[in-house]
Amino acid sequence: MDGRDTIAALATATGPGAVTILRLSGPGAFSILARLCPGPSPAPRELVLRPVIDPATGELIDRALVVRFPAPASFTGEDVAEIQAHGGALLADALLSAALAAGARAARPGEFSRRAFEGGRLDLAQAEGLAELISAGSEAGLRAARALFGGELSREVGALLERLEGLQARLEALIDFPEQSGALDEEALARDLAALRARLGALHRSHAEGRRRREGARVLLVGAPNVGKSSLFNALVGHARAIVHAEPGTTRDAVEGRLELHGLGVTLVDSAGVREAPGEVEAEGVERTRRALEAADLILWVQDLGEEAPADPATAQLLGQVGEGQRILPVGNKRDRAGEGASHPLPVSALTGEGLGALREALAGALGAAGEGSGGEAGVVLTLARHEAAAGIALEALEQAEALRAAGGGLDALSEELGEARRQLAGILGRIALPEALLDRIFGDFCLGK
Ligand code: GDP
Repeated sequence: MDGRDTIAALATATGPGAVTILRLSGPGAFSILARLCPGPSPAPRELVLRPVIDPATGELIDRALVVRFPAPASFTGEDVAEIQAHGGALLADALLSAALAAGARAARPGEFSRRAFEGGRLDLAQAEGLAELISAGSEAGLRAARALFGGELSREVGALLERLEGLQARLEALIDFPEQSGALDEEALARDLAALRARLGALHRSHAEGRRRREGARVLLVGAPNVGKSSLFNALVGHARAIVHAEPGTTRDAVEGRLELHGLGVTLVDSAGVREAPGEVEAEGVERTRRALEAADLILWVQDLGEEAPADPATAQLLGQVGEGQRILPVGNKRDRAGEGASHPLPVSALTGEGLGALREALAGALGAAGEGSGGEAGVVLTLARHEAAAGIALEALEQAEALRAAGGGLDALSEELGEARRQLAGILGRIALPEALLDRIFGDFCLGK
């Protein structure tokens, strides 16, 4: 870490608040602290009260609690100091200016975390987990972020890497020293490759569940025009966003709304009407619905209990396109208008609110069930697209290796595929050199002072 400068940033949000924390990291952290807060150097990790002096003017800025974290037992792995002063935007400005006047450089967003990564305190997936913790938008998203930051994914990827390395080392020994290494145990190789592929495959597939936890499940409302999709959307989301109209086919755009069901974030999507209509705009709406259908985790099929259900070939056709693993939950709307004897497993009324609680429960149940059984070893799931992409390429390489083995391909080619899988998995953890632009993008998304 020689040659590094010392960075400073406010670690608390600016504005009125009880405390402002200034954080310093780098080889000069303690000397800058001494200039700002004169007095005997505090023992490591011990909070002491000190005056904070502006080194330019000698003026007293505040009295604050200060603490030192000597390297390497600090967040960044460098010498870190923190000054916990009183809150307030002007005080925060004065504190940061004083630190800069005393020789620190203003940190870029995510620079502390980047130093923690470069100092080996966090791997890249954990650093991403930290950003996820801060930006989590639901209970499920927060839990997923905590697991990522806590190293759950890192341990699983690390275990896969170890097995890949072992396998590749065996192949390399066979290539380099065929006499000493004995004959290739074809059966063992096939077995090991298949086991690795299965474990990596499960991890890769878990992204559907991971994405659901992070971003929430997508629920698409479909049904004939005028059955009450928009009304139901509004009743569930809780405010009037979708256009409700008595004329069929007026909901032209897919409208989205967020709700939370038992800690799982849900994005509710109100589709455009699916009836084939002459207007160009309507046709676009139909196309949008098809695309929305593909992205949906659950399809809420709204039926009308209020009248003799007319044939609805457009919806029937749409439901025919529902993919494998997608579920359909039928709901009967306009319960208030239903005649005696009308029966439906899930009767509701968007108008009176009747049955909406049961609908929420049914949705939560269906979405929870959709997530069951997915996930890799020990329930580890891939939440981030970057990890999914890398795991996908690694999986392809393993499949290629299996195909090569089955076809009696050379050991060199086989080993190369294993090498590609290793590089991809190592990239998830940041164990190999990654493009600077990628690291800038990952850490640039962090907030200042993190
Ligand atoms: P969409 O075309 O499927 O989105 O249907 P809308 O939500 O626009 O509703 C069509 C018409 O049905 C409107 O006049 C609504 O007020 C009415 N409507 C919707 N839900 C109910 C309900 O539960 N009961 C009754 N009586 N009318 C409803």
